[in-house]
Amino acid sequence: MSRKREFTCINCPLSCTVTVRPGEAGLTVSGNECRRGEEYALQEYTDPRRVLTGTVVVEGAALPRLPVKTDTPIPKALIREAAAALNKIKATAPVRCGEIIVPNFAGSGSNLVATRDLGPDLDL
Ligand code: SF4
Repeated sequence: MSRKREFTCINCPLSCTVTVRPGEAGLTVSGNECRRGEEYALQEYTDPRRVLTGTVVVEGAALPRLPVKTDTPIPKALIREAAAALNKIKATAPVRCGEIIVPNFAGSGSNLVATRDLGPDLDL
């Protein structure tokens, strides 16, 4: 990528507009009031990532679907494919919050984990 880009830092309510410019000496960052804004903008410029949240079908549970998320942010370019893959997953109750439902989900290097306890009754 070789063009200037601007990002709104989401790390605090100040919402600095942070600019990343490519140059012969590498990337330069301006507009940030603190180091966190620089780190955020460089990450967004070079390798934007997001935590994917959603639900999957679960068998033997009090609810038809289990809420899940990736345990770390995954590349933004993988989000669409990974979201579609949620529809092919079938978990089996009982499930504990934090339990890995799919390791290395969609080849992202992140695990898909449950975000609540769920069994035949709502509480385990
Ligand atoms: S750069 Fe620092 S001060 Fe500005 S919004 Fe981000 S965290 Fe807040």
